[in-house]
Amino acid sequence: MFPDYRLRQREHLLQISRAMTSRLDLPSLLRLILENAVEILSGQAGLIVLRREDGSLYPRASYGLPVQAIHLLEPLWRDLPATADRRQWQIPDLSIRLRLASAAAGIALRQVVALPMMIQDEVTGVIYSFRSRGVDFTTNDRQVLADFADQAAITVQNAHLYQQVDEERDRLNAIIENSGDGVMILDADRTIRTWNRALTGMTGVLPVDAIGRHCYDVLDLRNQQGVSVCHTACPLVNPPADGRLYVEGDTQRADGVKVSLADNYSPAYDEDGNITNVVANVRDVSLLRDAEEVKNTLLSIISHELKTPVSIIKGYAGTLSRRDADWDEETLADGLAVIEEEADRLNKLINNLLDASRLQAGGLELQFAYLDLPSMAEKAVEGVRTQSDQHSFSLDFPPDFPPVRGDYERIREVLSNLLGNAIKYSPDGGLIRVGGRVKDSEVVMVVSDEGVGIPTSEQERIFDRFSRVDSSLSRQTPGAGLGLFLVKAVIEAHGGRVWVESRPGQGSTFNFTLPIGTKTLEA
Ligand code: ADP
Repeated sequence: MFPDYRLRQREHLLQISRAMTSRLDLPSLLRLILENAVEILSGQAGLIVLRREDGSLYPRASYGLPVQAIHLLEPLWRDLPATADRRQWQIPDLSIRLRLASAAAGIALRQVVALPMMIQDEVTGVIYSFRSRGVDFTTNDRQVLADFADQAAITVQNAHLYQQVDEERDRLNAIIENSGDGVMILDADRTIRTWNRALTGMTGVLPVDAIGRHCYDVLDLRNQQGVSVCHTACPLVNPPADGRLYVEGDTQRADGVKVSLADNYSPAYDEDGNITNVVANVRDVSLLRDAEEVKNTLLSIISHELKTPVSIIKGYAGTLSRRDADWDEETLADGLAVIEEEADRLNKLINNLLDASRLQAGGLELQFAYLDLPSMAEKAVEGVRTQSDQHSFSLDFPPDFPPVRGDYERIREVLSNLLGNAIKYSPDGGLIRVGGRVKDSEVVMVVSDEGVGIPTSEQERIFDRFSRVDSSLSRQTPGAGLGLFLVKAVIEAHGGRVWVESRPGQGSTFNFTLPIGTKTLEA
């Protein structure tokens, strides 16, 4: 038969274990242990001191003691060794220490029993139970308190472990959250569990809209053929042999911008070889893709746009210079005119390519002067009039059209590019109008034609570098898709805007503005 207090002790310890598994916080757990220990030992007060990392001890939980007096009990834990043999452990001069402490704190504490809280040989703290009246503590009492001391030691150790795990988790979360790469962690179902800030930046999808959903619903990467790669290639469908899977594809952000992402999936397996998590490392490779596209386009321009005029020039020059042929004047003049025309075209293309690369390097310098736009427009029209007898031209400026400050050569190029396009893209001829008007503090210049027009969906894109509308006419018409890109860059460098109004089949009107006055330009 258990003696009565043993039974009660068992109940108390059970209650404490239950509280421990339900993960109460450390101060409440220690207080619960202390309360139970003091009660079962028929004491009036109790104290738990814990060891800090630097080895010093400090009071962590108390029972039945006035809060303001606790630190005055310090003689009780002064200079206690950090390691000990549990069986021989005792506080030297404990009764003297008690007397000192109770006098300092002004509390009548008559008897004390103290036991170490030990993890292996290390004393992590001490538990005290006090009586202010009644008989001395017995060996039995010491034994009872030893059990509570063990409980308290385990509780503190658990709390430290929990804290370590918490800290480790916070550290990991911070690393993932602040990583420059996008990080997405999926569980075995391919449901998103983690979605970091960089990924939100790349995709525009907030964590709340991603976490808890299937990865292929949120990050639906499509290859160039429009096939969803995330869905078919996700490693849980086809586990990769080498443990990693690399997928590249495009996705569209909520703001409509297309981004190219590279996704590196690394599955984690449990002991039985089942996938537990998949960590996906996501990178924005749009710039790389752009650079690749530019390189390819450049190569195709060089091979097509440059090769054609060169072979025409070579062909004509070779034919005209044949010693055995006796060309009449007219044939000779026609041939030389073709050579000159093609050389001009080459020259223009090379200049455009050079300007585009200068622009990319940030070196578009403007030489400002006062410009007489109506006379510049007239000269530009004269320059192209001979190119076509199918087109008629009109100039439309009010008589008091103001001078505008700008770079003469650059604005001349703008007019020549727009006029050249107006001719190129109205193969059946028609009227080409160049005009200007004053609106508020700007002049608005217009170049319009009655040609093939531009679909609405393409009207913004045509100002991008190397961008051409895909049509049979474009395919037959020489061009590198650089003219409008340069027009836009030049006009914007002047502080103006450029846009197009057009209806397919009915013609296009290109507009650009230049600010009147000197302030904006000289700033
Ligand atoms: P390029 O003419 O060398 O192709 P541009 O940058 O000047 O390059 O023009 C880009 C594209 O915009 C052209 O390929 C053409 O499809 C379209 N475009 C430009 N101007 C016109 C116009 N006046 N009418 C119809 N389409 C045009």
